[in-house]
Amino acid sequence: MTDASRVRTDRCADETRGRNRTRVYAIASAVLLLLAAAMWTPVLASPADVPIARPAFYTPLVLLLAFVAGELFPLRFEVRSEVLLVSLSELPLVLGVLLLPPWMVGAAYGLAAVIAFAARRGRLRSAVMNLALIAAESGSAVMLVHLLARPVGSGGLLAVAQPRLFAVAVGAIAGALVSAVAVGLIRRVIGSTHPIRTLVARSMLTAVLVVGLTLAGFTVWTAIPRGPVLCLAVVAIFALLYRNYFAFLQQHAGLAGLYEFGASVARAGVDIATWQNLVQQVGDQIGARIAALYLTDRPTGAAVLAADADGPVDIAMPPAGDPLLDQALRDGFAIAQRDRTSDPAVAEALTARGATDVIIVALKSADRDRGFVEIRDSRSRWSRLDAGDLTLLRTLSGHLATALDNHRLVSRLQREAYHDPVTGLANRSGLEVRGEELAKAGGFGGVLLLDLGVLGDVTSALGHDHGEQLLVTMGERLTEAVGPEAFVGRVDADRFAVLFGPLTEDEARRFADAVLAIAGRAIVVDGVEVEPNVVGGIAFNEHPEAVPITRNVLLQQAQLALVSARAKGERLAIYRPAIGEVYQRRFQLVNQFRHAVDTGRVTVYYQPKLTLAERELIGVEALVRWMHPEYGFVAPTELIDAIENTSAIDVLFRHVLDQSLAQIADWSARGLHISVAVNLSVRNLLAPDLARIVVDALATYRVPAELLTLEVTESSVMDQPERALPALRELHALGIRLSVDDFGTGYSSLAYLRRLPIDEIKIDKSFVQGMVTDLGDLAIVRAIIDLGHSLGLRVVAEGVEEEAGRDALRSMKCDAMQGFLLARPLPIDRFESWLTSRTVPQNPGRQGEPALLRMRA
Ligand code: C2E
Ligand code: CA
Ligand code: CA
Repeated sequence: MTDASRVRTDRCADETRGRNRTRVYAIASAVLLLLAAAMWTPVLASPADVPIARPAFYTPLVLLLAFVAGELFPLRFEVRSEVLLVSLSELPLVLGVLLLPPWMVGAAYGLAAVIAFAARRGRLRSAVMNLALIAAESGSAVMLVHLLARPVGSGGLLAVAQPRLFAVAVGAIAGALVSAVAVGLIRRVIGSTHPIRTLVARSMLTAVLVVGLTLAGFTVWTAIPRGPVLCLAVVAIFALLYRNYFAFLQQHAGLAGLYEFGASVARAGVDIATWQNLVQQVGDQIGARIAALYLTDRPTGAAVLAADADGPVDIAMPPAGDPLLDQALRDGFAIAQRDRTSDPAVAEALTARGATDVIIVALKSADRDRGFVEIRDSRSRWSRLDAGDLTLLRTLSGHLATALDNHRLVSRLQREAYHDPVTGLANRSGLEVRGEELAKAGGFGGVLLLDLGVLGDVTSALGHDHGEQLLVTMGERLTEAVGPEAFVGRVDADRFAVLFGPLTEDEARRFADAVLAIAGRAIVVDGVEVEPNVVGGIAFNEHPEAVPITRNVLLQQAQLALVSARAKGERLAIYRPAIGEVYQRRFQLVNQFRHAVDTGRVTVYYQPKLTLAERELIGVEALVRWMHPEYGFVAPTELIDAIENTSAIDVLFRHVLDQSLAQIADWSARGLHISVAVNLSVRNLLAPDLARIVVDALATYRVPAELLTLEVTESSVMDQPERALPALRELHALGIRLSVDDFGTGYSSLAYLRRLPIDEIKIDKSFVQGMVTDLGDLAIVRAIIDLGHSLGLRVVAEGVEEEAGRDALRSMKCDAMQGFLLARPLPIDRFESWLTSRTVPQNPGRQGEPALLRMRA
């Protein structure tokens, strides 16, 4: 059992300790060689023993061949799912010691080991090890034979019929024992947990069997007349049986190996060692000298994992333009054999790899090129890598690709949990983790929260991609601005958070000012210069020891500070408990609004507008209503105040517009001609894509533009007339009716009003309600009515609660009214009942046309 390959094929050892293993082998080889020298010296020094018979001249040659065969082709037996490698080297050893002088046996055995090494392409350290084992094994055999069978006086030490046969048996078994013990010890040293006892016992068993059979065969061969024929017949039968058994075994091993490979792939984790081991298993399964995995699909550059039979090896990724990799990328695989290629580039690629045969399979998963698996040369010099190996490699690569995918998925999920996908910065969870780390190290001073205040504009003006680009740029800018001491993350939309170390309030203010200054610099997005309107809120970490509560609370406090800064028109605010009380609710409204829209908690109420003269329904106003689970109905004024400066206001507008248009379409389908007025906030009005949104929505619901009215307040138009005017013109040109809300509260100049492309003005309810008792208000109402008429506009009075007011308005020739007197804003079902009970179709004669509604007398 002198097979160092048993050491080699043992995978229990940690393969990363290759260097260590080389040292162990070297020391063990040296010890064994010394031992061998000690045993060989007396044998070689004494006069030659007399062999039993004169050997024929070809006997040494036959012996050499037998040794080579024994080394190269150990018999494999599988006993209870364990593989037993039975080397037949004992057979020639026994015969050699019987027939030839010891030196000849030793030389033949050693030479056979060298030849086997050359054929096997193993590593030098294994070959040296094997040679040392052989020297020790054969040494102990010949020494024992020398001691036991040396003629002492008249006869041998043991006076039995065939003392030499017995001595040879003992010697050969002793040799096997020495070898087994040595192998067992070496395995133990390099980390195997396999018990030495079983190894030695197994070794002894096979040695006794082989030696016994050999000696029996020898006796039969020499002593019985037809002995040789008999022996050859037995060997032939045995060979035949083994061949069948071996075929079965190989198939079985192939399946078992594949299964095991699949299982280890499924278990493969993130650590390099398991992957390294998988690569080695690929080599083992195919019997390739080298197996390599090139992972090209990595942000940090390609990675190479490679192994030969002994463990990890260092090889480089083939350079760009490698014809084999290129081919594999194109066709999915490449196979090259040096003697069968005429392409000089391929031959060169083989030479560069130091290989005769190369097979490469491209790793593809989820339609992406992940890399390659490459194998080089068969482990045995007698066989080549061929199409069968390609099939096997493809199967194994398929497993690997799946594992890579799972693996990527896991790490992506892990990454996504803590990072914002747009900027790559930490997200809320990432910030929390980081905050905890800082706090543990005692260096978590507080949070600076920044709100860019531009994302909505950029996204609506230039599109989503540019919005993202803005965020990425801002993220980079902030990371650079805060320096290594602080940590930047993105909280949501265009809010970034900076965790800073221990700072006094003054220091924090200076730090924040510096960051705000940098963040506030104009950014060029797609050639358009965007000027962020950055506002900051600071919250200090008062209780560094109470980490887990503090980090959440801190972020929330910083947000409150920020909201208060925005509301006061300041650039920076530091959180104080008082801010919390005031802004807590406001803050929640902002944060919960989107979700409320998504879950249907935000609805639209309708309030009718009627002409004063004919009492015809000229339309309804859509008014938003939010039923908050905690606060009940949220007044629209409070809601709009809270969300006005955030992108939630866009969400609100779209939502109300959608609902209103759907309602108009529904009425139209039932033959009702009712126009709906939707309120626009300043921010909605100034959004660059307002016209597009409205046009798209009209098209979606197939509603004619005349049925939509947009209400803008006087002040929102007057705020930035140069921006508002083009938007209004565009909308008006589309046929949409425009109405100026809350008229009279602002300071519209008459000159200005004339330039506005509007259809209607609504007298603010404060005047309408006041005019009954206040002559001043009455004068204003009258003036507005006259002014509107002189400009050809329809004049609507809102907030009409009393009949006296209605009558006064009618007498002043006000066109229309809206107010509680007629109806409160109503949810759609109640509004429908109002319609049916209080109005009648006004044009009964004209079938097919949408009906106008008039109020019952
Ligand atoms: P507004 O556009 O002036 O809407 C009229 C407000 O007056 C409504 O208040 C309505 O309920 C109320 N009102 C109607 N008739 C009477 C009356 O006879 N007496 C009194 N005292 N009040 C009357 P609401 O629904 O609370 O809305 C308040 C403001 O919130 C609205 O004033 C409007 O500026 C804003 N708003 C409402 N819905 C929306 C919306 O969908 N988008 C935008 N941007 N703003 C909205
Ligand atoms: Ca309004
Ligand atoms: Ca109003």
